[in-house]
Formats: sequence, structure tokens, C-alpha cells
Amino acid sequence: EILQADITNPEEKIQEESLRPSSLKEYIGQKDLKGVLDIAIQAAKVRQESLDHLLLYGPPGLGKTTMSLILASEMGVNCKITAAPALERPRDIVGILMALQPGDILFIDEIHRLPRMTEEILYPAMEDFRLDITVGKGNTAKIRSIPLPKFTLVGATTKVGSLTSPLRDRFGLVQKLRFYEVDELTLIVQRTADILQTVVTEEGAAEIARRSRGTPRIANRLLKRVRDYAQVKAHTEIDGAIASAAMEIYNVDPLGLDWVDRLLLTTMAEQFNGGPVGLEALAASTGEDSHTIEEVYEPYLLQIGYLHRTPRGRVVTAAARKHLGLKGGNDNSE
Ligand code: ATP
Repeated sequence: EILQADITNPEEKIQEESLRPSSLKEYIGQKDLKGVLDIAIQAAKVRQESLDHLLLYGPPGLGKTTMSLILASEMGVNCKITAAPALERPRDIVGILMALQPGDILFIDEIHRLPRMTEEILYPAMEDFRLDITVGKGNTAKIRSIPLPKFTLVGATTKVGSLTSPLRDRFGLVQKLRFYEVDELTLIVQRTADILQTVVTEEGAAEIARRSRGTPRIANRLLKRVRDYAQVKAHTEIDGAIASAAMEIYNVDPLGLDWVDRLLLTTMAEQFNGGPVGLEALAASTGEDSHTIEEVYEPYLLQIGYLHRTPRGRVVTAAARKHLGLKGGNDNSE
């Protein structure tokens, strides 16, 4: 799958690390976010304090982890990266909190999936930099408080609505990451090509950018696939035509939709008469996981207006039908 992050592939992971921009200046796009964080960094530095806790939300691959690492480097502190699935037991988070140095950033990905016990340990840790641990059992149980160094929690989530309100309220800054514009993604592709020592023309970079669903991670991944293609076909530079030809092979259409997107839209149009259709029914009919549909595929389809959400379920739009060459059916979105 070209769209999904292959987080289990260590080689891909290491490569991704090498492509990350390392300063706010190098971070392309997300102007609003950078403006807010630039002020937060300068203010914290003047006051010699740690940054306020920050919640970043938005679809996968838009640069949440990257931004957290940049904040740490701008503040001159360490960044510890973890994710909710690695924090199953209370002692996991306790161990991490106890190891923090003053000012450190703790990045927790998928923070909406934290187990309740872990979340409750975070409340006093975030608010008063204090760890409350229960010692003993039953009637003799006591709570011991251990002071923690001041640290910054950066939480990342694709589903901000799934956060409990006590957790959300403890973040001083809540910021959304947006899909990137094509010109921003073109710059990202050019930057990555430089790092990979690959020659790409402006048109080639733009062609890849247009098919990247507003997402830097996908832009980088597509560039690598196009580079493979160019190498095998003995082209020394990637131009628009080569980029298009390569992406046709990988089944990525001119809008960046892959076969799963097309399957979702076609199923809605043909089996459900355009909708409304519930998420679970769509997942069952397509054999795709409902979380993946909701968090990976849908955000972009909503963004480009191919899908609408109504209280009764998802509906496919006339624009999507046109793109897929599907006839008939009502445009149930109106
Ligand atoms: P997830 O939440 O799925 O882990 P993420 O939002 O944390 O995703 P990152 O891992 O930070 O995404 O970014 C994915 C890749 O995209 C990185 O390798 C990085 O090189 C690139 N990238 C992200 N944002 C930018 C940017 N603004 N400029 C240049 N490259 C970027």
C-alpha cells in the first residue's frame, strides 16, 4: 500500500528519519502552526521555562512527529518519542516520566488511545509535574507523590474528538495540521530529491506533488517509487511524463487516489446507491478496517469533496462519480 505508513519496516523508518527537516525554517508549509509555535518558543526561552503542553491533530503523515523533534531542537532539549500502544501498563508511563530531564519533550502518538489508568497518571504529571503512586493495597494503601522535572507533553492524534475532556483541557496549545498545498508539496519533493541525490524537474516534482493527497509522507514515498522506475528505465532525470508513467504502474491516479479509495467510492455508489452508508457497513462490504477507512482514507476524500458525512452516514458526491466514470444514481449529498 502506497498510502499507509509501513511502520513495521525498519529500513523505511530509518529512511524517513533522514528526510525530516530539523528546524522551523526548513519545515515547509503549515504557516499558522509555525507562527504560533515560533512565538511559544521565543516566550519560553525569554522566561527560561519549558514549553506549554501541545496537542497536534490531523491526518497521518502531515508532520506531527517532525514538528515535535523540531521543537526539541529549537529549545535545546531531548525528545522522547512513544505511542499509546506502548503504554499499556501504568509502569510504562511511570518509567518514562521518571527518566525525563528538565525541559524535555515527551511525544505521545495516538494519544486518544491511552488506557484510562495511564491517562490518570498523566493528569497530575502535566498539571503539577507530580507523579502520584499508590503504595500498598486495600485499607493500608497510601498515595505517594514524587516531584517530576518540568517537561512538555506533545500529544498527537488523528481523532481529536476522541480525547477525553480532562486530557484535552490540560493542553495549553491545541493546533491542527492541514493538508499541504501542491506548491508546498512540490518544494518538499524537491528537497527530498536533493537529499536522495535524484534529479527531478520542476514539472516532475509538481506531478508527484499533485498525486500526494496533501501529505508529505506520501510525497516522499511516491518520489522513491518514481525514482525506482526512472532507474530501471535508465532515465537520468525525472520529468512530468516519467512521473506520470511511473505512478500509473503503481495505480495512483492523477488525483492521488489508489485502488482502496476507488473501491470505497465505487462500493458506496454501486452497492449502497450512493449512500448514506454507515462506516461499519462500508468496512464489511469492502473488507477494509473501519479505523483505517476513517483515519487514513476518508479525510482526503472529504477534503476534495468526493465524500460527505451526514448524520445518517457517508454519501458519495457527483464529483466522485464523474472522476470514476460512474453513471446514474442520485447525488445524495445535496
Ligand atoms: P504520524 O502521525 O502518522 O506518525 P506524522 O504527522 O507524525 O505522522 P511525520 O512522521 O512527522 O508525520 O512526517 C512524515 C514525513 O514527512 C517525514 O519523514 C518528513 O520528512 C516529511 N515531512 C513532514 N512534514 C514536512 C514538512 N513540513 N516539510 C518537509 N518534510 C516534511
